[in-house]
Amino acid sequence: MSERRDSSAGLHLNIYVEVRERVSTAEAARYYGYEPNRAGFICCPFHGERTPSLKLYADGFYCFGCGTGGSVIDFVGRLFHLDPLGAVRRLDQDFHLGLPVGCPPTAAEREAARRRRHTDEARKLFAGWRDQMLLQINAAIRTANTADPGNVTESEAMAIRYRETLEFWGNQLSGGVLSEQMEIFRDREEVERLCRTILNSMPKKSQAA
Ligand SMILES: [Zn+2]
Repeated sequence: MSERRDSSAGLHLNIYVEVRERVSTAEAARYYGYEPNRAGFICCPFHGERTPSLKLYADGFYCFGCGTGGSVIDFVGRLFHLDPLGAVRRLDQDFHLGLPVGCPPTAAEREAARRRRHTDEARKLFAGWRDQMLLQINAAIRTANTADPGNVTESEAMAIRYRETLEFWGNQLSGGVLSEQMEIFRDREEVERLCRTILNSMPKKSQAA
């Protein structure tokens, strides 16, 4: 929260100025139930009194009884026990000022955002793995498909033996729903080992041929 406030301190300063320019203390007082008399005085909400001694000015207030004074933001802040930013938010809401003063994110919102970022990263990592794996799976299937039946190498024999499995993995990874893809990802050691075994021994064929 402090981090956020620091980074938008300049923005907030402008907001304070804007609120003071757009809402007079008299307007605010009236809105919150303090009707000023003809001289512009109200009974001070900040000390008990029966005769009005709080004077409302265009850009602030001052109580001649208790000495409290300040801007419209101070007035609303004192009235509702809010810090300045809270008072600005209250005024923004009640007077429909449309200022960019959304509430700072709650701990839960921050946690959700963190989790979203984490999920995005995981998804990117997974997508990278999947694309890489698909290339290998397709290459392994090609190994099976292009094998010469009369001269099958060890790796080709393996590719042929596991062709259906490879095709299943390939289909799931390229067209399956995420949960199906994740299932393969969980068993990735097996998938990776098989592809590695088939593909890494490929050159043997050219040596053998
Ligand atoms: Zn007072």
